[in-house]
Amino acid sequence: MMNTLQLCQHLIQFPSVTPQDKGIMDFLVSILEPMGFKCHLLPFTDDNNQVIQNLYARKGTASPNLCFAGHVDVVPTGPETSWTHPPFQGNIHSQYLWGRGTVDMKGSIAAFISATASTTITNGSISLMITGDEEGPGTHGTKKIIEWLEKNNETIDFCIVGEPTSEAKLGDIIKIGRRGSLNAALTVNGTQGHVAYPHKADNPIPKMLKLLTALDTTILDKGYPNFQPSNLEITSIDVGNQASNVIPQTVTARFNCRFNPTYTTQSLEDHLRTTLDTINIDCTLTIIGSSEPFLTKTHAATNHLTQAIREITGIIPELSTSGGTSDARYIHKIAPVVECGLKNDLAHKVDERVSIHDLTALTKIYQRFIQLYFNATS
Ligand SMILES: [Zn+2]
Repeated sequence: MMNTLQLCQHLIQFPSVTPQDKGIMDFLVSILEPMGFKCHLLPFTDDNNQVIQNLYARKGTASPNLCFAGHVDVVPTGPETSWTHPPFQGNIHSQYLWGRGTVDMKGSIAAFISATASTTITNGSISLMITGDEEGPGTHGTKKIIEWLEKNNETIDFCIVGEPTSEAKLGDIIKIGRRGSLNAALTVNGTQGHVAYPHKADNPIPKMLKLLTALDTTILDKGYPNFQPSNLEITSIDVGNQASNVIPQTVTARFNCRFNPTYTTQSLEDHLRTTLDTINIDCTLTIIGSSEPFLTKTHAATNHLTQAIREITGIIPELSTSGGTSDARYIHKIAPVVECGLKNDLAHKVDERVSIHDLTALTKIYQRFIQLYFNATS
């Protein structure tokens, strides 16, 4: 069996930019089967007839089933000439492994697999849920794997997602939930006309400004246990007006809300509509897409993960719900889920790289966590 560094190096050498697989899942199967994993390749075809490859692998049949979830797809590299080392070569230099996906998140996948290889479990199962569609639309990856698991009566008792959650030091943050996200468009219609004859036109822009001011100044809430206050951020105001002497017909604005469990998507939408109604200006609010917030309440396994991090790094991790969305938003529907992985400062950047020290330490953290989890359930 390869060590974490060697395994990660191999994974980096597959240029698996979403939605391309480039053979990485077959490679994982070739590693996992000799380790005793039963592998299920789960290809799903997206709307562009592109096949997205996914994998669910399980070692053992007994309960509890401890699952590790992650993605092997990576974001594009940008101009490769900007990189100090080619992004898909997996060069080792100055105590770092360089390449696209080292921290987000092939490094933690390699760490988890090698942690599993060196641990014997007699009283449960270990499974891996690996997707090739996390950085893209996210519609034919984890979401579909979850549907497959449910259809096949496959249960998961606890799941850890290996997203890079650490901030200043490895292990300083465990994510125990995520805020919800709501995207919306607001449109105000007027009457087009000449700027010299405004009485013959109806300018929608001042109306839009009043509506946006109302939205921007409303305090959504003061926070929720473990969560920041909900926030509304205006992201765009579009008129598309090419002329300086024309009052435009229509103005559209877009905004995003990141919200805590004070709201559901529906109750937040209701709140936004009520706020707009107080201004008494005709407008159309369209919700473009959303995901619900979630929180994994106090769980023994989270305490085991905290203990493992403390033993290996000396750090007591903060339990946080900050940041963007992740595939944990799908997983929490079937199992308690937390996220813990490498440092995220170089994710998606040129010269993404992981320190070899952190790769080794993360392997030890996962290894110790697996021991603590199964000892407690035996
Ligand atoms: Zn990621």
